Amino acid sequence: MNIQAQSLTERIAEIKGAKVLKSFCYTCPWTCPTEVYVRDGKVVYHKGNPDAPNNIGTRCAKGMASAWVTRDPDRLKYPMLRTNPKGQKGEFKRISWDEAFKFIADKLRQIEKEHGPEAVCYLSHHDPNSIFMVQLLAQLYGTPNISLGHAMGCEGDRRSACLTTFGSLFPMHDFTGSKYVILWGMNMLGANQGLFESRALLQAKKNGCKLVVVDPSFTETAQKADEWIPIKPGTDAAMGLAMCKHIIDEGLYDQDYVNTYCHGFDGFRDHLAEKGYTPEWAEEICGIDAGTIRRLAREFATTKPSISAQFKGSGYYTNGNDGGRVCYILAAICGQIDKPGTFHLDDWAPIGHPVAIPEEAMRKPEKAPLAHAMGYALAPLTGYPVVPEIPSSRLPGAVIEDDPYPIRGIFCQATNPVMSDPNRDRVQAMFAKLDLAVAQELYMSETALECDIVLPETSFYEQAELRQGMWLGPEAILCQPVVEPVGEAKPAYEIAKGLAQEMGWGEYFSYETWEDWAAVSAKDLPVSVDDLKEKGFWAGNVSYGRVEAGLGTPSGKIEIYSNAYEGAGHNPYPEWRERSVIPDDEFPLQVTHSKLSMHCNIVTQNNPFLMEICPENWVEINSVDATKYGIADGGKCVIESPKDNITMTAKVVEGLVPGCISIRHGHGFGHWAMGSVAKGKGAHSNNLMDTHTNPITGTNNYNECKVRIRAA
Ligand code: SF4
Repeated sequence: MNIQAQSLTERIAEIKGAKVLKSFCYTCPWTCPTEVYVRDGKVVYHKGNPDAPNNIGTRCAKGMASAWVTRDPDRLKYPMLRTNPKGQKGEFKRISWDEAFKFIADKLRQIEKEHGPEAVCYLSHHDPNSIFMVQLLAQLYGTPNISLGHAMGCEGDRRSACLTTFGSLFPMHDFTGSKYVILWGMNMLGANQGLFESRALLQAKKNGCKLVVVDPSFTETAQKADEWIPIKPGTDAAMGLAMCKHIIDEGLYDQDYVNTYCHGFDGFRDHLAEKGYTPEWAEEICGIDAGTIRRLAREFATTKPSISAQFKGSGYYTNGNDGGRVCYILAAICGQIDKPGTFHLDDWAPIGHPVAIPEEAMRKPEKAPLAHAMGYALAPLTGYPVVPEIPSSRLPGAVIEDDPYPIRGIFCQATNPVMSDPNRDRVQAMFAKLDLAVAQELYMSETALECDIVLPETSFYEQAELRQGMWLGPEAILCQPVVEPVGEAKPAYEIAKGLAQEMGWGEYFSYETWEDWAAVSAKDLPVSVDDLKEKGFWAGNVSYGRVEAGLGTPSGKIEIYSNAYEGAGHNPYPEWRERSVIPDDEFPLQVTHSKLSMHCNIVTQNNPFLMEICPENWVEINSVDATKYGIADGGKCVIESPKDNITMTAKVVEGLVPGCISIRHGHGFGHWAMGSVAKGKGAHSNNLMDTHTNPITGTNNYNECKVRIRAA
C-alpha cells in the first residue's frame, strides 16, 4: 500500500477552507466526539471535539488513523450473492439492492413458515443503527433472538455481575477524585477504554491515588501502577473473597451502609466463614501470599474514595461471573458505590426508538429467547427491546443439532463470529447449514465469506447515528454523514427500510432523511437535532445518589445475596469454582489473552497506518518458561492445544506469571479475508479453543485452554 507523504504546508493548504462538521469516532465502542474537516468531498483532517467531556479534543492513534476507511479500496461496494454451495470458499456475484431485499425477504418467509420467526437470529456489535433491523426482526417479524453488544464474546461476566448486583447493565468509573483504585484484569491504558476514564485515572494518580493492578500480566496499566499483583490466571474470585472476609472479620466494612443499602450482608459474612475463604486459603489458589491479601484488604477498606473495577481479564473463565460479583461486593461493603471518586452506575440520555411501531402490529414470540431456552437465565440483558444476549459459542448447537430449537437464519451486522468465537471449525460448519446467512459489513470478512448474501454498509463517516455517549453523565452524541458512501454502500437505516418495504412493512419506515428518524429518537432530549448538528453532543449533569433512591434489583438494594441467582437455582452468594480446563503434563501452559493498543478487535487490521506501527500480533512467555521450552525472543514458536496449533512470534518477558502465556490478540490478525493489508498477518487463536461457556452467564470462556509450546 503506497501512502503518499504530505508536507506540513500541503496539509495546512488542504485543511484551510474545509467545512467542519461535528461527529464522532466509532472505531472502538468508546465513541469519542469529533470535528471532521471536509473539502472536495474528502476528509482532510479530524480531531476530537474540544467541548465534549469524553475526550476534550483528544483522540487515540486508532481514531486518528480512522479516515482511511473512507478511501480504502478493499471496502465492499455492491450487494453480493453467493454463487457456489456453502462449505466451500465463497464465490459471489454483484446484484442490485432490489434483488438483495427480495432474496432476503423470500428466505425470511420460508424460515417463518417452516420453523417460526424464532429461527432467525440477529447479531451485531454495539451499533445503535442496528435498532432499525432489530425493530423489523424483533417487533414485526417476531424473533426474540437479538444480540446487540457482542457481550458474550466480551464483557458478559462483568455485565451480568453489574446487573445482578446493582440492577444496572454498564459500569462506569469516576476516577477523578479516587484515592485508591484496584483493577482486576483491566488493562485500561493498553486496551480500549474511554479516554476520559484513562485521563481521570492518570490525573488521580498525580493527585496521590494508589493504583493496584491484579493481573497475571505486567500490562501497560500495571506498568503505571504503584503495585502489580501477579495473580495466577482465573483466580481473582478467590482473592476477592478472601479480601472481603478479612475486611469483615476486622470490622473495617461500612456497617451503616451495608445495613441500609445492601441486601444479604449477614448471610454473606456467614457464607465466607462456612466456606473458609481466608487469606491463607486464597494464597494456595492465587499464588499471592496471605499477608499481601490482608494488607491490600486493609488499605482498600480504609482509603476512600476508592474503586474496585474489572474487565475481561478476570472473566473468560468458568468462574468469571462470581469473580465479577466479588469485585463489586468488595466496593459495596466499604460503601464505595455511586459517590464522587467511586464506582458509578450508568446514567443514560433519553434517546428513543427511531421507528414508531404500534402495539397491535408487534408480534410476540412464542418461544423463549435462546439464552433462556439454553438454561442461561442470567445471560446479561441488552436493549431495544430488552432481551438476553445470545450465548454465541452455543449458537452452532441450535443450527447443527436443533438444540434447544432450530435456528435457520443469521444476520451478522458488523460482527465476525468466524474470527471472534472459539472453535472456528464448528462456527464455519454452522454457517454451512443455514438457510439464510446475511453479512452486513464494510469488508468481505471471514464471516461474510461463509454467507449467502453480503450487504455493503457505510462507515461512520458516511452515515448518521444518534447514540448514548460513553461518559459519566447522561450524554447524547450525534454522528453526521460527512462524505458520500463508498460505491453503493447504504447505512443500516436505509437497508432496514428497503427490507421492510419488501416485507410489506414500509409504512413504519417512512422517513425520507436521516434527520426525520433522528427527530423521533431525540424527541425527549432537551435539545433538537439541529442543536446536536451544531455542537455534536448534549451532556447533562453527573449525578450521584441512585443507591439511596433505590436500585433496579428485586430488593431495590445492592444485592450481595442475589435474588436473580437464587431464582435461577444458583447459590445466591458468590463462591469459588475452579477453572474447567487445567494444564497438565501434556499441555502444561495456561492460555491468557490481552489486547493490542494500536488495534481494536478485528476491525482495524486493514488500516495501513496502524499496521505500519503494529503489523502482527505475538505471544508473550515468561523467561523461565522460554528457557524450559527452548523459545527465543523474537523467534517463531508453535502453540499447540488439544484441538489445533498456530505459529506466532514469541516475546520473552519477565512480567508474566510463569506457567501461562499471553496471546496479544485484539481478537484479530491472521485474517484470510478482510482486505489486502490485513490478509495473512500474524496468527489467530480461536481454533486453539474448544467450546467452553460460562455455565451461568453464557459468556465465551476464551481462557479455558491449555497448550504446549515449542520453537518453530
Ligand atoms: S478511543 Fe475509540 S472512539 Fe475514541 S478516538 Fe480512539 S478509537 Fe476512536
